[in-house]
Amino acid sequence: MKAALLYKPAPVEKDPIVIEDVPVPEPKDNQILVKVEACGVCRSNLHMIEGDWVKYGLPSKLPIIPGHEIVGTIHEIGRGVEGLSIRQRVGIQPLWTACGRCEYCLRGFEHLCPSKKITGETVDGGYAEYVLADWRYVYPIPDNLDTIEAAPLFCPGVTAYGAVLKAELKPGKRVAVFGIGGVGHMVVQIAKLYGAEVLAVSRNKAHLEVAKELGADVIINSSTSDPVEEIRKLGGVDASIVFAPSDVAAEQAIKVTKPFGTIVMGVHVKLGEFFFHEEKRIVGSVIGSRWMMRDVIKLARAGKIKPVCEKYPLEKVNEVLKKLKMGEVRARAVLVP
Ligand SMILES: [Zn+2]
Ligand SMILES: [Zn+2]
Repeated sequence: MKAALLYKPAPVEKDPIVIEDVPVPEPKDNQILVKVEACGVCRSNLHMIEGDWVKYGLPSKLPIIPGHEIVGTIHEIGRGVEGLSIRQRVGIQPLWTACGRCEYCLRGFEHLCPSKKITGETVDGGYAEYVLADWRYVYPIPDNLDTIEAAPLFCPGVTAYGAVLKAELKPGKRVAVFGIGGVGHMVVQIAKLYGAEVLAVSRNKAHLEVAKELGADVIINSSTSDPVEEIRKLGGVDASIVFAPSDVAAEQAIKVTKPFGTIVMGVHVKLGEFFFHEEKRIVGSVIGSRWMMRDVIKLARAGKIKPVCEKYPLEKVNEVLKKLKMGEVRARAVLVP
């Protein structure tokens, strides 16, 4: 099969991904083989490919096939698999599998399982014609969803959903969303569903246009104005959700959130000074569990959320990663093998 492999993490300018012909993997017990029809290109793929996460032990094997927001059709079924059929369309999210026994798995937060496996980081992912999946961690795709548009539900969709849940939004609340990329543009849509007033903050003009199209109430260009000043003029926000990979954005989010408010951090940042007397809460948020993933698919099926996508052939993977790094992807790039 055709696959995009990373042999050695390096800056994307050096074209670190190579397209090769590799054997099609065989499904073991409890596994299915999925023929990939679409795989989104995530900023976290970029981090791993460029070697930013070598210090955290990722990728945990080399070479590795990256890619963790996948839609395809079931091609082969291993022993022990129930309720799935050949040619059925399914999605695979970053959470490839988990132990099913630890305290996090038992509470329905299996994305925090210490023994979890991550698609495209600890096991081969979706930048290929075929990928293996654990049948207990795949999700049937409703017929009314387009394959390309469904793929980003499996990382940006669920990541945005998990973050918005933690922000505890409701009508009358105001939220600032810092960073309107693949995840941020889904956060805007889901925050609107909760009835909140949404302020979109980004340095990228094209991203702010997407936010506006998706219903953001206020857009703030942080390259031409000071978001702290702008948001304070409006009276601050009840919650902030940060997906901009920037210490400055994180600091701004803490500043503009009102006392007792919540700041949801979806990126790794260094936090500056934090004033305890305002009783603000900072909470991390990473991907999501299976029940969150199912909720996201329900929202998409009902037409309430929809990723903004641009499609590229798998062969263009290095080019797409460069575009992502330069902020030239409008919302989400999706590779088609
Ligand atoms: Zn992702
Ligand atoms: Zn577990």
